[in-house]
Amino acid sequence: MARRRQLYEGKAKILFEGPEPGTLVQYFKDDATAFNAQKKGVITGKGVLNNRISEFLMLRLGEIGVPTHFVRRLNMREQLIREVEIIPLEVVVRNVAAGSLSTRLGIPEGTRLPRSIIEYYYKNDGLNDPMVAEEHITAFGWATPPDMDDIVSLTLRVNDFLSGLFLGVGITLVDFKLEFGRLWEEDEMRIVLADEISPDNCRLWDSKTNEKMDKDRFRRDLGKVEEAYQEVAKRLGILPEAGMRDMKGPEIMQ
Ligand code: 5GP
Repeated sequence: MARRRQLYEGKAKILFEGPEPGTLVQYFKDDATAFNAQKKGVITGKGVLNNRISEFLMLRLGEIGVPTHFVRRLNMREQLIREVEIIPLEVVVRNVAAGSLSTRLGIPEGTRLPRSIIEYYYKNDGLNDPMVAEEHITAFGWATPPDMDDIVSLTLRVNDFLSGLFLGVGITLVDFKLEFGRLWEEDEMRIVLADEISPDNCRLWDSKTNEKMDKDRFRRDLGKVEEAYQEVAKRLGILPEAGMRDMKGPEIMQ
């Protein structure tokens, strides 16, 4: 098979040049990091499951009219995506207090928030992804006011839709992180959802027991990490065809 040009390697994914101009191949690794890569590990089968879960959620969001970078899944670990200009923001939505919100404001984990809260973080590992206000974002030109209007309305739609979808399978969507990009078509620019949506960047709790079913199991050494990711896929009805036999999936080609 032809060798492909690697464009970028992140903590959990690799981006390769795509088969046609304007496309990329997004490869999902089993590598897991936390606390800005101070903690590192491997969650066997995570890449296969996240590829599947993210495909499923991006497709469902596409069906309700949320534009995304997703084109199609190629194999167990890879998906074809549109090349976008990534906006350097992590957009976090919270429905229930947890994680850094609880630490920062002293609100006990599990407290239902009076309304959904959107926060912005500047995507910069060197600075530890600092929290920023919309003022910083527009003043420094990371996004324009109209871009922010699109980002907020898309984020709220994604939150409403995913909260309902997960609740339907007995999971509370506590919080999650989104990334957006600019997609250029001719001279027109659209803001689209990018990156991935998976237990790596969502907090997902069992609705009955509040058991954690996401990356916090790795971050906090709670054990049964693989099982939690599998359970999310199972509840969504999308465990890979091969079941758990083939979780290692094809080896990466470079
Ligand atoms: P917190 O700010 O509480 O650490 O995270 C809030 C939510 O955003 C969690 O669901 C967490 O998984 C997600 N999140 C925040 N920053 C990152 C990040 O740098 N990487 C990933 N994968 N998720 C993040």
